[in-house]
Amino acid sequence: MKKNIFYHSTRGSKEKKNSSEAIVYGIADDGGLFIPTKIPKLKIDFSQLKEFNYHELSYQIMKEYLTDFSEKDLRDCINKAYDHKFDTDVIVPLKKKMGIYFLELYHGPTLAFKDMALSILPYLLQVALKKLNLNKQVVILTATSGDTGKAALAGFANVPGTRVIVFFPQDGVSTIQERQMLTQAGENTHVIGILGNFDDAQRGVKEIFNNRLFGEMIQKNNFILSSANSINIGRLIPQIVYYFYAYLDLVKKGEIFQGEKINFVVPTGNFGNILAAYYAKEMGLPVKKLICASNENKVLTDFFKKGIYDRRRQLKMTISPSMDILVSSNLERLLSIISHNNANQINAMISGLNKKGFYQINSTYRKNLSSFYGECASQEETLIGIKKVFDASNYLIDPHTAVGYAVYQKYLSETRDNTHTIIVATASPFKFTKSVMSAIDKKYEKMNEFKLIEKMADLSRISIPAEIRNIEKKPILHSIVCRKDKMKEKLHEILFTERKN
Ligand SMILES: *Cc1c(COP(=O)(O)O)cnc(C)c1O
Repeated sequence: MKKNIFYHSTRGSKEKKNSSEAIVYGIADDGGLFIPTKIPKLKIDFSQLKEFNYHELSYQIMKEYLTDFSEKDLRDCINKAYDHKFDTDVIVPLKKKMGIYFLELYHGPTLAFKDMALSILPYLLQVALKKLNLNKQVVILTATSGDTGKAALAGFANVPGTRVIVFFPQDGVSTIQERQMLTQAGENTHVIGILGNFDDAQRGVKEIFNNRLFGEMIQKNNFILSSANSINIGRLIPQIVYYFYAYLDLVKKGEIFQGEKINFVVPTGNFGNILAAYYAKEMGLPVKKLICASNENKVLTDFFKKGIYDRRRQLKMTISPSMDILVSSNLERLLSIISHNNANQINAMISGLNKKGFYQINSTYRKNLSSFYGECASQEETLIGIKKVFDASNYLIDPHTAVGYAVYQKYLSETRDNTHTIIVATASPFKFTKSVMSAIDKKYEKMNEFKLIEKMADLSRISIPAEIRNIEKKPILHSIVCRKDKMKEKLHEILFTERKN
């Protein structure tokens, strides 16, 4: 008989939810994150898994977590999500350059890895709502460091029964990222620039979730608040799939033998993508090291090196804006695993982080982190990485992927580890034309980001992705700006002030 998986809060409240409830509510009542009571093991033989396409593999993995979904419902979600919106049949191409593998997760509709989960989340949510018999409108509340926002908007635009509201840091995203959001069509979409950084946006969203009075108001008006941020397990679960897919691809191509361990390098911000890699490892994927790559906002590097998480520092704006984060939400889920679900300890750590700005983990917990290696790359090292890869192989990587590449170079010289390694390529270089092109040749520094789209296409001989073709000429449809301490009021206005159309 199929074993059901339930979800409970990292912070210890007794509530137990099935996967539909966890997806709909997004975050636990006590402010904690939902985690499965147990990470399931994948029981199918790798020689069989190897034969599966992306859709079949997705089904085999996701069904282990979404045990209250019927086979038909889950397969429908998968088929609708990973269709022609992706510009390649394999969904996640793996490219070999200079002896390293790059897993391109940016072939979805908005050109970043966020599409891997956000193209399926709306369908999962619709099924979950139907199951729970909730006749309510779901308000998807999202803080974005650039890519989640557009991917959530694109995923939820015109999905019946939903409103999607995105808060982004006005000066913290690339010109093209911003334009992608501001040109988003859809009656149910709202985009708001805040005068602050990503951490401010994320804190504001969490405060709205935890505000009781606001919660009552939401309920009274027949809304449900949910989240498209990686705190939602509906984001985490679909992200596990591509780690298996990439591994099996290497086996199929004869690059590694079945069972051989490999490394993954993951450019990290909110710790969602790399946590999915860790879940894959726990499910049985042969992984040696998970290399956590940070930019100059290196809280996670310090955490892995010293066992101290310390957010008491100034957030830096970098050329890899989607990683400009000081409070990595999903780390709470890892803390839960390394402490064997010790909620008291987690509450102490989280309150230390909130009140004092830091926490330290004990030596036992540190030992449980041995699968991870944390390192960071400066802005300069990142730019050099882009140029080096291009000069050696005519291959363009975006600044986030380049952080991964630069960190991997440091890992290699420190460890001399010759294990086969996959660098996760998280965004298309076309989203960051200015930084990428200037890294390759200073002469591009003076051109604007839109002009550089064509130059990049010429240089790389890759045609301009449909998403940003003519983006400069698309009408801007959103113009709301608000202060970082006024997010709740702004949301109130949007939801409760009747709009007559
Ligand atoms: C979101 C994002 C990241 C960071 O991923 P996390 O899951 O937040 O760690 C890295 N690169 C790009 C391009 C992103 O959009």
